[in-house]
Amino acid sequence: MPPPSIPQMLDGTAATGALREPRLTPQETVNQFLEFVGAARTPEDTAALDLNRVAAAIWARTVPTSLSVSHANGRVSIYTRKPSVLKPDVGESQRNKRLAVAGRYIPSAAGSGGPRLPPRPTVTEQVGLLASVGISYAKFNRIRVFFGGALSPMASPQALRQARFALLKVPANDVPLFDTGAHLSHLCRAVEGRLSHLWSAGLFVERPSFDSEGVAIPQTRDYEVPSTGRPLYSDYCPPADMRDIHISVGLDRGGDPSSVKVVMGFMNQEHLNRLGNTLLMGVCPESKDKYPEVAAILAPHVAQFHQLSLTGDVVGPQRRAVRVFVNSDYPSVCNTAGHKGHSASLPCPMCLGTKSPSDAQWLLDALFGTMQDLSRTYPPRTVSHLREMRAAYESGEPPDGLRHATHLSIERPPVIIVPPTHIVPLPLPLLIGHTLRMLRIAIEAVKRGCGPSTGRQFAHSLAATLSVEFGVEPVPHHGGNFIGRHCHTIGARSHAIVRILQPLVPAHWATAYERGWALLRGVLETLNRAAVIPPAEQHRFKAEARAFASLIQESFPLVSISPKLHVLFSHSWEFMGRWGSTGLHGEQAIESWHG
Ligand SMILES: [Zn+2]
Repeated sequence: MPPPSIPQMLDGTAATGALREPRLTPQETVNQFLEFVGAARTPEDTAALDLNRVAAAIWARTVPTSLSVSHANGRVSIYTRKPSVLKPDVGESQRNKRLAVAGRYIPSAAGSGGPRLPPRPTVTEQVGLLASVGISYAKFNRIRVFFGGALSPMASPQALRQARFALLKVPANDVPLFDTGAHLSHLCRAVEGRLSHLWSAGLFVERPSFDSEGVAIPQTRDYEVPSTGRPLYSDYCPPADMRDIHISVGLDRGGDPSSVKVVMGFMNQEHLNRLGNTLLMGVCPESKDKYPEVAAILAPHVAQFHQLSLTGDVVGPQRRAVRVFVNSDYPSVCNTAGHKGHSASLPCPMCLGTKSPSDAQWLLDALFGTMQDLSRTYPPRTVSHLREMRAAYESGEPPDGLRHATHLSIERPPVIIVPPTHIVPLPLPLLIGHTLRMLRIAIEAVKRGCGPSTGRQFAHSLAATLSVEFGVEPVPHHGGNFIGRHCHTIGARSHAIVRILQPLVPAHWATAYERGWALLRGVLETLNRAAVIPPAEQHRFKAEARAFASLIQESFPLVSISPKLHVLFSHSWEFMGRWGSTGLHGEQAIESWHG
């Protein structure tokens, strides 16, 4: 029988009536017992229940009288059980520990009896945790069952699903369906929500720009919304001393089933490349990366980007300018800017360098310089030119009607106008592109030196080395290319490629090839690292990136300076110098959306 104080605390007569009921199953008895324990409000109430006797009765049946433990050195220790009773009067710290243990098993204890117990995480918080860690509800439920099922503080799958459904109903998460797929409709609110969360959690990281000496430029001015309704700065590039936030927008093709995802990244945080720290803006069915499709996919977001640039975003106590970076792969960057792409005679979306010298455009070659001439500097593209082109095309001007010297390979209306300095020279495509290039250079050299059949043979033995020795295979969702991790493996073990190549090519050629790999390894390591790169390393990076392109041009004259090599040679170190890093603004997070 419970002591008289407890039934008074319980809810009425049902419980006491139930106690008189003689035919309770053991489970029902236990449940009722737990109810009594849960109703206890003070240590005195708990002591009155004489729980020590209950515990002792259980332990006496389940714990062996002695335990033997074998140590590594062969010694065996035997521990013999000596039953003793817990002290009923204990200090505050020990009492809290006991209450915490009780709280784990008795649902009501945490809420009523233990004033110092931490509050249970809410179901919504658990939904957020699972989304950021990436655990499915089914797996979580297995863990939950292991830790006591309904008695644990973990939410049931049904409760998780309900909370998730409720979250999806929040206006900031509206996902309407258009012809092109599903899109997040209140981008501004979603951005605001993410950043205010980062700020209030103390996780907001400032991302300054750097001067030519590698010194961070202090941000001392707040952004002010212009009364004219037009952006204050015509180049869409907030001044370096203005407080800002950095967001990125990237398109990614891939996954299984294949789809195009529009992913937003937030650079003002430490672990920006984690999947849960990015925002999926839209998911669209597979596209061919053609301009009309990219334009249609981005169209639902264009007004919101404009709005963000115009109003800025209030983070903590200040209003900040919004700086948008584009970190898609090369075709998507070109399509976003209305640029013709790889085949254009001015193939770089960042500068006006021409692809290769030609009689037809000798004037452009002379004015801007060609990419093949590594001694040149190339004039950068400008936002004003992109705006002019947008206005021209919107007024009905056909691209054919414009002269080449006017459209400069911007042959469609730019979808989102982003300053060319905000186009990220993506580490991953550069890594994949240059690794593949080096492999092709080797095959090409053998073909030219020893004939096509030896070349084919070498290509097979190279594929076998990559597959068997390195354990790397091309994968379909990268268009038959190697994934980034495998490219790193190939770079790290390039000596094995040089080894099978050496008997087939002249010695000086093999030495140059080996040096090429060594330079590329160093360059890619710095290019990919998601951290602010110290100035000394940036200088080394610039020297090596340029040395790599020069080496390719001098030692392998049949290989031209491709747009990717040009980006490495001319723009990667510029971007790194201005923003401190390319890896931070890169696309690892986008890549992790490959599902
Ligand atoms: Zn360029």
